[in-house]
Amino acid sequence: MATETPEISIVVPVYNEAPNLETLYAELVQAMEGYGHSFEIVAVDDGSRDASVDVLKQLHEQDLRLRIVRLARNFGQNPAVYAGFEQARGEIIVTIDADLQNPPADIPKLVEKLREGKFDLVQGWRENREDSAFRRLASRTINRLVSRITKVDIKDLGCGMKAYRRAVVERLTTSTHRSRYLPAETAWLGVKVGEVPVAHRSRTAGDSKYGLWALLRVNFDMVASISTAPIHLIGLGGALFALIGFAMAARVLYWRLFVMEQFNELATVSAIFFVLAGIQMICTSIMCEYISRIYNEVQRRPYFIVEEVIE
Ligand code: UDP
Ligand code: MG
Repeated sequence: MATETPEISIVVPVYNEAPNLETLYAELVQAMEGYGHSFEIVAVDDGSRDASVDVLKQLHEQDLRLRIVRLARNFGQNPAVYAGFEQARGEIIVTIDADLQNPPADIPKLVEKLREGKFDLVQGWRENREDSAFRRLASRTINRLVSRITKVDIKDLGCGMKAYRRAVVERLTTSTHRSRYLPAETAWLGVKVGEVPVAHRSRTAGDSKYGLWALLRVNFDMVASISTAPIHLIGLGGALFALIGFAMAARVLYWRLFVMEQFNELATVSAIFFVLAGIQMICTSIMCEYISRIYNEVQRRPYFIVEEVIE
């Protein structure tokens, strides 16, 4: 039976996870029925090309607590989670990966921590992460960088397992801007974040969606979304150039006015070059800053497109 407004919504982004879905469903139901709060599962199919949708439809026919949101194509994990947020009806919204790496048995732990009332968002922290050494190193680097930029100290940003208060999710989904990297968004909104250690298992079926290239793309996108540091770096380079130029110009002037010896033409030309190039670089980087903001906002492209909702 479908409950009208469930207490807890579980949002699952799904991209080519067919072999994992039945076990995931069984584990979710077991964990949630044991917990004793009403729930719904919002499975967001992010344009899977395998049998994921068929498996989800079968599960939906047995159990109406599982609803399916089908996106028109593969938009990426973050947009898929947002699409699920928009459909979720619970007072508490939990996100979990579909690949069984996050055990559903840990959901009550997150929710209980949220219910203590101190936090608006409780997120999992994979204490013993079962991923390659390369992935763990990459995550550590990115975590540090993001913590520095956002000034929010979170141990494990990449963990897909989180529990949100409804109010937070509503604030997130009503935003219209394009850059919506979740940790940056919640930091900006002033959401109080708590962390609890969760178990982590290695992937037994299907492939990780984050190879080297996807990791680079996602992380570059993230840095560009939350920070204008790359542009400011160019500006800094420009300032350095200009500074060198001014020093050279001062030397040339001094030579000319006070020493009156033979004039070094190369030094003059170099000084002019450095000053002009530096000023150019600074101006360009200031312009890039404005242009990139305009570019991002002016597009107003939808963050995701829902193909159908099965409920
Ligand atoms: N995912 C998605 N769309 C994508 C990539 C991933 O919905 O474009 C889902 C995926 O099905 C899984 C979760 O996001 O449920 C995390 O992906 P994955 O397990 O590949 O990431 P990893 O554990 O390797 O970081
Ligand atoms: Mg995974």
